[in-house]
Amino acid sequence: MKVVLLGPPGAGKGTQATGIVERYNIVHISTGDIFRKNVKEGTPLGKQAKAYMDKGELVPDELVIALVQDRLKQDDCKDGYLLDGFPRTTFQAEAMEKLGMAVDKVIDIQVGKDVLVGRATGRRVCKKCGETYHVSFRPTKVEGVCDKCGAEVIQRSDDEEATVARRIDVYLSETAPLVDYYEKKGNIVHINGDDDAKVVQEKIFAALD
Ligand code: ADP
Ligand code: AMP
Repeated sequence: MKVVLLGPPGAGKGTQATGIVERYNIVHISTGDIFRKNVKEGTPLGKQAKAYMDKGELVPDELVIALVQDRLKQDDCKDGYLLDGFPRTTFQAEAMEKLGMAVDKVIDIQVGKDVLVGRATGRRVCKKCGETYHVSFRPTKVEGVCDKCGAEVIQRSDDEEATVARRIDVYLSETAPLVDYYEKKGNIVHINGDDDAKVVQEKIFAALD
């Protein structure tokens, strides 16, 4: 199964990805996670991406496409993958098609703008294992400490309010047109992401089963 998770920043893509990859035994590929890892490790790709990410802008298409193309060639992607945060522009979606990167189903998680800002600014992530929390909706048991691995839980540098607002605007202008793009292909399902995470999960499973 080859699935794309579409939705604005804070919609719950990363949160939903965990359950999806477990249920369907596919690989989770988050371009945002890959970029953050490269930034942390100070790789040339990370250095290039950081300037865009800090401003809430998209990393240039060529960089992202090359990265995903390379990742999908790896053996673990043979039986399926879940793309989280890619494609994010019509150019990226068209490149995928030209390069033979298949998409069976697109899950579009829809959440209102007011809810998004609160979700992203309240998001906290574990520095070590990447587990995602929320100060109100999914707090850690001990403040600032990951429930899973005990490492420090921090706020993403691009989750500060002004950057979140810019990222939502970028989503609306650059990524939202993909809804129409996949609508024409007939392989998109719309899910209301305002509900509790468990309810959203059940709806996604029902769409994919
Ligand atoms: P995305 O990957 O789409 O940017 P995340 O999955 O990281 O979004 O979710 C953003 C924040 O909102 C996180 O702090 C997460 O814990 C929280 N969250 C995700 N889904 C829900 C939900 N259905 N209800 C409330 N909070 C949620
Ligand atoms: P995310 O973790 O999906 O919220 O992505 C964090 C940041 O990484 C984005 O704001 C972009 O700067 C960059 N990024 C991730 N995926 C892409 C993509 N497909 N195209 C361009 N930029 C991306």
